[in-house]
This record gives sequence, C-alpha cells and structure tokens, in this order.
Amino acid sequence: MDLTYSEEDNAFRAEVRAFIDEAFTPDLRAETARSKNGYISKQGHTLWQKRLYEKGWAAPNWPVEHGGAGFTPTQKFIFTQEMDTAGAPHTIPFGMSMVAPVIMAFANDEQKQRFLPDILATNVWWCQGYSEPGSGSDLASLQMKAEDKGDHYLCNGSKIWTSMAQHADWIFCLVRTAKTEKRQDGISFLLIEMDTPGVKVEPLITLDGPAKDQQEINQVFFTDVKVPKENLIGEENKGWTYAKYLLEFERGNPYSAGLKRGLSKVKQMAAEIEADGAKLADDPDFARKTSDLERQIMVMEATELRIFAEINAGQNIGPGASSLLKTRGTEIQQDVSELAVEAIGQYGFPFVEDTLASTNEPDVGMDGAPVVVPGYLNKRKTSIYAGSNEVQRNIIAKAVLGL
Ligand SMILES: Cc1cc2nc3c(=O)[nH]c(=O)nc-3n(C[C@H](O)[C@H](O)[C@H](O)COP(=O)(O)OP(=O)(O)OC[C@H]3O[C@@H](n4cnc5c(N)ncnc54)[C@H](O)[C@@H]3O)c2cc1C
Repeated sequence: MDLTYSEEDNAFRAEVRAFIDEAFTPDLRAETARSKNGYISKQGHTLWQKRLYEKGWAAPNWPVEHGGAGFTPTQKFIFTQEMDTAGAPHTIPFGMSMVAPVIMAFANDEQKQRFLPDILATNVWWCQGYSEPGSGSDLASLQMKAEDKGDHYLCNGSKIWTSMAQHADWIFCLVRTAKTEKRQDGISFLLIEMDTPGVKVEPLITLDGPAKDQQEINQVFFTDVKVPKENLIGEENKGWTYAKYLLEFERGNPYSAGLKRGLSKVKQMAAEIEADGAKLADDPDFARKTSDLERQIMVMEATELRIFAEINAGQNIGPGASSLLKTRGTEIQQDVSELAVEAIGQYGFPFVEDTLASTNEPDVGMDGAPVVVPGYLNKRKTSIYAGSNEVQRNIIAKAVLGL
C-alpha cells in the first residue's frame, strides 16, 4: 500500500490545522473538554457546524452537487485525523451523515429541496427513530404502526434510546405499514416533525448521570400522530432497504487519532500523579498497560491506513471492514477510559455532576479529573450502539470468514 502524502495533501493538512486554530475557539475548547460523552450544548454544536458550513466543509461525505466538501478519500482521512487530534466536536450525525444520504438516494426532488439545504447549514436538528423497546439488534421486529388514512398516516408506538431527541426538530422513523410474512417487507421510512401533536419526549438518564447540556438519550412516544403522506421516503414497505443503506454510513469511521489523544491525556495525568514518592507513569505495571494500549492503537492506525489506501486505489474493501473498525475501535476506547480511571484513583470519587459545568475553581486532584469517571461509564455505550459488537462479530464471521 502507498502511504505517502502528496504535496497537495500536506498543504490540505495545513489548511485544516489553520481552520481548527481559528474556528475551535477557547470557549468551544473549554466546553468540549468538559464533555463526558462527546456532546456539548446545542448552541455549541450549532456554532461549530455553522463554521464548518461557512468553510464549505460541513459535509465531507456528500457529493459536491448537494454542497459536499468534494474531498478526495485522502483529504477525508486527513480531515478526520486532524479533527480528532484536536479534539474538535463531532458533527452530529443524525442529519448530516444518516438521513441525508437516504434522502439523496431515495427521496423525490421536492423532498431533497425541502430537507437537504437545512441539514447542510445546521438549521434543523434530526434524530434517529430505529430502536424500540424489544427491537434493537433484531430491528425487523419493530412495532411502531403507521396506518394509511388517505392523505396521512396515523402513527402509534414508541422509539427508544433516541439520541438528542430533546433537541431535534425532526425524527426519521422506521414504521410498520403492513403485516407481511417476511417482517422486513412491511416497514416504511417516515419523516416526522417533532412538534406534531401526540409526540412526547421523555429523557432516559444513563449511569453517567444527568449532566445539563449533555443529556443524551430519550424515549419518544407517538400517540395518534398524523403524518402527511408527503413525508414518506421512497416507496411504502421498502423502508428496510433504505434503513440498511443508512447503516452503511453509521459505521466505518477511523478511530486511531481520537484514541491517541485519549491515551496521551492518560499519560499526562499519570506523569502528574505521585504515590510513595514515585510518579505513576514510572510504575512498571502502569507503564506496561500504557504501552500495550499504544501498541494496539498503532495496529489500529495501520489497519485504518491499509483500508484507506485500498479505497484510495479504487479497490472494493469488501464487507466486514467497517465492522472490524467499529469493534476494535470501541474496544480500545473502553480500555483507554478504564486506564484513565485507574490513573486518577481517588480523584475519581468527587463524581459530582456540577463539576462538569465550567467553573473558575481548579479541578480537585488534577485538570480534567471530573470528566474521567462519567466518561468511562458513558463509553460502555460504544460497544452497544450502531450495532452491538457481538452483532458486528457475527457480520465478520459471515461476510469475511464465511462461517
Ligand atoms: C447511547 C446509545 C445511543 C443510542 N442512540 C440511538 C438512536 O439515536 N436511535 C436509535 O434508533 N437507536 C439508538 N440506540 C440503540 C442501539 O442501536 C441499540 O441499543 C442496539 O442496536 C442494541 O439493541 P438493544 O439495546 O435492544 O439490545 P439487544 O438487541 O436486546 O441486545 C442485548 C445483548 O444481546 C446481544 N445480542 C443480540 N443479538 C445477538 C446476536 N444475534 N448474536 C450475538 N449477540 C446478540 C447484544 O450484543 C447485546 O449484548 C442507542 C443506544 C445507545 C446505548
């Protein structure tokens, strides 16, 4: 594989760095540093995404005709690497990376005009209504009903684990429009406005606590919600096809730059902590754990570069690559967050939600300590969402190993 960067690529990297230096302002950096789950305030995310939009970089994966950045595969890789290295906020995926590709591929022209420009400019927020109580990995068992009432559907049911639903203007839902022998055949893809009468959002508090501005998941209830027929994407009962198409965009991201950043923070903390007159960083057992993770991250990076070089060379990377990245990336993420908890030791005890808010007081123990335990607890999600790691392993077993 050819891993050399061209002069243009290096110039692009410098441009990304210059953008980050200017746009990722001290206020945004401070807010992001207090995030236990990658989310900051709605205002903060909107500000950041609008800056990307003004630069023309809001949508690295969209085609140029719809306002995409027009990056080459190498530029996309460099862009993500630099953003993760800087710890910049992630673009909220539900509009930009999830529903937008489905709209581009399967919606009619009117729907494209109606939705895509506002997604690109972060004028509207979206959330994803796939999972239901009892339907997660086995998504095709979903029950939320949409009955045909002539000019509209009447929707009843509920969606669960809905990230950022409390901020969303719209939700894209998989709904049951027919009872068919094969469950997948009776599902449709429907867009619902969150302020439609009968839609109710209830927060679900996760074990990392109810921090203001970082509340993450919800249950959304639909009671006799009237949804105009014009909000159906594509054909009725073909939603499963669109849903699977969307999931391709949910996985397959590079992880190594973010992992390196996470581990370097742990090393920084270990260099500050002293026990019995010695620095934790010099403790042989701790140093072994650190270098073991370093090695795993290097392997991860090499794998990402290999996959990216294959894409760049126009090769089909085949099924399983995104499952492999997701599984290993999230496992290492969890291990890094565990080592961080080990590093801060007793400074993890003042697990007070209020300490996540910006304050003028120095953190107890060391800078950044209050985020470590909630961050560790929050990271448990990564092996569950976007298709659990067990399910990813099933995909690898089937698609790659032919088992
Ligand atoms: C923080 C967070 C945010 C989320 N955000 C959203 C969102 O915005 N929108 C949305 O629609 N959903 C969202 N989800 C839901 C997520 O997609 C589901 O949690 C996930 O698909 C797993 O489904 P489940 O929770 O019902 O678990 P289950 O499917 O019940 O799985 C339970 C356990 O069984 C294992 N398992 C299940 N089937 C198999 C199998 N065939 N082989 C081996 N093991 C299996 C799983 O790996 C898991 O360990 C979110 C989840 C989390 C944790």
